[in-house]
Amino acid sequence: MDDHALLRYSRQIMLDQVDIEGQERLLAGHALVIGAGGLGSPVALYLAAAGMGRLTLADADEVELSNLQRQIAHATVDLGRNKAESAREAALALNPSCMIRALSDHLDGEALARSVAEADVVLDCTDRFSSRYAINAACHTAQVPLVSGAAIRFSGQLAVFDPRDPESPCYACLYPPGEEGGEALSCAESGVVAPLVGLIGSFQALEAIKLVSGAGTPHRGLSTFDGLGGQWRHFRVPRDPACPVCGSF
Ligand SMILES: [Zn+2]
Repeated sequence: MDDHALLRYSRQIMLDQVDIEGQERLLAGHALVIGAGGLGSPVALYLAAAGMGRLTLADADEVELSNLQRQIAHATVDLGRNKAESAREAALALNPSCMIRALSDHLDGEALARSVAEADVVLDCTDRFSSRYAINAACHTAQVPLVSGAAIRFSGQLAVFDPRDPESPCYACLYPPGEEGGEALSCAESGVVAPLVGLIGSFQALEAIKLVSGAGTPHRGLSTFDGLGGQWRHFRVPRDPACPVCGSF
């Protein structure tokens, strides 16, 4: 790290749990952020600002007027632009030393498997169950930790799945495929209050920074936030031996 980097990241380096070594690990780290919308915006901005060395941002959608109420990586001038490209530009403006790749195609199949395998941590910032299951399976295959977030209406949730930890469940242990039912609503159908995606996305960024820098211990179980009541709840999520993704059968 040169003097500029030491100064830029000084407020993190002064934390005993991060220190120079943790910041160096962050600068050498690579995060894959899938979805550059409500959750992906704060994730991309905080990870770039905090000194994650490499970011891959994936989103096939274009910025629409109804996105701007909460997707803070995009500005009014970005209407019609690809979201990954727009978020890349916003994150680079914050920190030009972050190496950022924008993927403007829908990430699935081989491309998803390859991108996940190249990352140290994956952040699921999508809002579709089909994407969530595909990302979870790819993370399990590549043994890469997954930080999952979701936000709708006034409520949100956070979970970290680490396939390297034999105790850790995966996304499909939490939501067995076929049982997702009424949860499969999107913000477009149900609405979402603006700062809620910022709150959950910021938690996702924090967990990614902890995982890559080595600070603290990763979040366990499932946390849900009720924005109307202002309350967090925490649930234990056991690994399901019959899980179709990570189960032992
Ligand atoms: Zn599982």
